[in-house]
Amino acid sequence: MVSTIPISNSVIESQLRPDIRKLQPLLVEWRRHLHQRPELGFKEHLTGKLISEKLQEWGIEHQTGIANTGIVATINSGKPGPVLGIRADLDALPIQELNDVPYRSIHNGIMHACGHDGHTAIALGTAHYLATHPQDFTGIVKIIFQPAEEGPGGAKPMIEAGVLKNPDVDAIIGLHLWNNLPLGTLGVRSGALMAATERFSCTILGKGGHGAMPHQTIDSIVVAAQIVNALQTIVARNINPIDSAVVTVGQLNAGRAFNVIADTARMSGTVRYFSLDYQNYFSKRIEQIISGICASYGAKYEFNYTPLYPPLINDSKIADLVKSVAESIVETPAGVVPECQTMGGEDMSFFLREVPGCYFFLGSANSEKGLAYPHHHPRFDFDETALGIGVEMFIRCVEKFCSQG
Ligand SMILES: [Zn+2]
Ligand SMILES: [Zn+2]
Repeated sequence: MVSTIPISNSVIESQLRPDIRKLQPLLVEWRRHLHQRPELGFKEHLTGKLISEKLQEWGIEHQTGIANTGIVATINSGKPGPVLGIRADLDALPIQELNDVPYRSIHNGIMHACGHDGHTAIALGTAHYLATHPQDFTGIVKIIFQPAEEGPGGAKPMIEAGVLKNPDVDAIIGLHLWNNLPLGTLGVRSGALMAATERFSCTILGKGGHGAMPHQTIDSIVVAAQIVNALQTIVARNINPIDSAVVTVGQLNAGRAFNVIADTARMSGTVRYFSLDYQNYFSKRIEQIISGICASYGAKYEFNYTPLYPPLINDSKIADLVKSVAESIVETPAGVVPECQTMGGEDMSFFLREVPGCYFFLGSANSEKGLAYPHHHPRFDFDETALGIGVEMFIRCVEKFCSQG
């Protein structure tokens, strides 16, 4: 766990400009409205309705229905300048909420357990501020409301639909509310921030039989056990120890009775890594191990490998800009945490593969208020003071980026 000294809510709030402080109750209202009505990926219809209604009300030009439920708002300062993209994700998770709060989810079995309700509220607040303060920046800001971050991924189809074009986006920023960091801190780093996410599955085809007569069988469970162990040697023995990677077997199913040798065993798992050097490595190495072990036991196998999200890599120049903005808000370098890498994945990585940019973490945990459960937990919730900080961060980034030309 990263040790940082959290800054009090009042100190943080004093960093917000009056017009953003005025927005704070609205940010909370929008976030709670969305929190009560969570929707899964590509089904963010009520979420889109709120966004669209607000943008309409504020006279902000926007396009809906991009990659199903995505929305892009374009705020033009009326002055020539760069085009900055700001990305927010919209979707929730298939989790039954256990929080007993007035804004608890009313959609059975669905919950905003990752904070994307907050991301949407922050992006709306940013849109509102920019539309009412066009004198504060030059160029154009495109706010990209992206569906389905939790899967199957809305970033890629939005890029394919042309959201980074016409006008062409010069750089992109985005944030994730982060309960691994206390409120009053910001996680900013250049280079790899989040890991590539890949999925594999394998069925081992042996030969079943009597539990007392193993010599007549090919025991798929014994073969699977060898494979699970051997897969761990990829990280331990094949990957450069300076790099980081994970191979996790998350599912292993076989057998129906204590005295029967199972003919098939099924496993699935995930691979994580930061370095682009490994982009085609794991699929080959995992299959090599499975194939070799199966051959040595006389078993056959079926293998599937799916790369999901690439590693999320921040551009050093934009990351430096975001870092200096972060330091101006928390007023101390100690509040900006570079040791914030995580093996979690994010499809913001697709945007960052197309244009330079920076994704950062907005500390949102407050253990004194009991708001420190991890993301994807049925009791996840965050300190809503972070919403205003998120808007202030985005606005200061816009001002800085759009004054650089
Ligand atoms: Zn998540
Ligand atoms: Zn998330």
